[in-house]
Amino acid sequence: MQEPREGGCLCGAVRYRVTNAPFRTSVCHCTFCQRRTGSAFGLGAYFKKDDFELLSGELRSYEHRSDESGRWLRLEFCPNCGTTVTWTLEVTPEGRGVAGGSFDDPRWLKIERHSWTRSKHPWFTIPPGVETFERSSLPPPTAPLSRPRE
Ligand SMILES: [Zn+2]
Ligand SMILES: [Zn+2]
Repeated sequence: MQEPREGGCLCGAVRYRVTNAPFRTSVCHCTFCQRRTGSAFGLGAYFKKDDFELLSGELRSYEHRSDESGRWLRLEFCPNCGTTVTWTLEVTPEGRGVAGGSFDDPRWLKIERHSWTRSKHPWFTIPPGVETFERSSLPPPTAPLSRPRE
């Protein structure tokens, strides 16, 4: 495996480097990922926070609260070209999601799971040998990780 790996946004202002292997890789077919990407699904590799390093540029963030789980997620994007490069999830704050398509060479990514398959596009066939989840693959919102609500 070739490490460290680098990537960045469309305009090149944001550059990053990751070390070690991601602890999770996934395709997300939820309607939020469809809308935020303008595509059929989101593609993410999750690294431990310390394994991610921002080399240049700055990231602006947009926070969204899921109407299904009540949890927040924060998209981190280049303010110049709008590419969402990374994101942070309330449910796994020790990790950082990196947009799969933002790696200089994204072909090393092996997708282990497909989540929110209930909203996937009907023409997409899930490949064999991956875990599938009709909804979220993450713990339900009653888990103790959740921040107290008002
Ligand atoms: Zn950019
Ligand atoms: Zn999603």
